[in-house]
Amino acid sequence: KLYNQVQDLKGSIRVYCRVRPFLSESSYLSSVDHIEEGNIIINTPSKYGKGRKSFTFNKVFGQSATQAEVFSDMQPLIRSVLDGYNVCIFAYGQTGSGKTYTMSGPKDLTEKDQGVNYRALGDLFLLAEQRKDTFRYDVSVQMIEIYNEQVRDLLVTDGSNKRYPFTNSFEIRNSSQNGLNVPDANLMPVSSTSDVIDLMNLGQRNRAVGATALNDRSSRSHSCLTVHVQGRDLTSGAVLRGCMHLVDLAGSERVDKSEVTGDRLKEAQHINKSLSALGDVIASLAQKNPHVPYRNSKLTQLLQDSLGKFKSTKNLLF
Ligand code: ADP
Ligand code: MG
Repeated sequence: KLYNQVQDLKGSIRVYCRVRPFLSESSYLSSVDHIEEGNIIINTPSKYGKGRKSFTFNKVFGQSATQAEVFSDMQPLIRSVLDGYNVCIFAYGQTGSGKTYTMSGPKDLTEKDQGVNYRALGDLFLLAEQRKDTFRYDVSVQMIEIYNEQVRDLLVTDGSNKRYPFTNSFEIRNSSQNGLNVPDANLMPVSSTSDVIDLMNLGQRNRAVGATALNDRSSRSHSCLTVHVQGRDLTSGAVLRGCMHLVDLAGSERVDKSEVTGDRLKEAQHINKSLSALGDVIASLAQKNPHVPYRNSKLTQLLQDSLGKFKSTKNLLF
């Protein structure tokens, strides 16, 4: 549906599909019949009326696609960030579909398993180094989580903001002054991939802390690693700024409202609301609607600077 909606946007938004390998026979629900370029044909189980369904994307990655292959399609965007564009890459899907695997990697991470986040930053540093005779780049990162429409900083070392409701939920301001839309969250300068790995580990640990209290909260919150880049042209002195949001969205599964109550119901409502707000924003952009409803959720407010201004923005979706 999304792919069909964004066809008019001339590649500003691209939608990819990645099929993850089966984890066990019990997870068997429907199976991939075959993949041809941008098409995936699924055998639907009899429960849904036996048959085959075809879905179209910019490209479909099969079960055997490596992390490196998936990233190679995103690689051109890294250059865009260094050229001063805003970019957003996000993973959408049900819990267990492979979002975290694609964006970060598996739990016991080896270099070849590194996901988009690590590879994007690795490439960013490599390209910045190649341009060092003409540009000087400063790179810094923020990492935040949105849970029940509250925003918390994941790059804290003092354990603050550990418990929900967060004592200081941050505001999203879309300040154009310094390019930061969550100005209160820590902004950490980084100069190498190992700096980034340390920070991502810190962020993951902070996310996990809350999760024990609330039982696997990570699949019910959105996490966003934002990379801010400022570049100075060494000859003209001109400064450009670009940013990249790398987002691991909350699970998109529909929670049966008749079966959940209390905290789970509230979470489900917040997730449904923010994911549909994201869909609405993309639909209005696709229809070139003058009013784009960014303000309906924290998620769309956060991504506003990288969704929509198509002349100066490049976007990518998963
Ligand atoms: P999500 O974040 O969408 O809930 P995960 O990324 O945690 O899902 O993936 C669920 C499980 O499947 C994890 O154990 C993960 O390591 C594994 N997995 C996901 N995608 C792949 C893949 N492409 N290849 C191998 N294992 C994968
Ligand atoms: Mg996950």
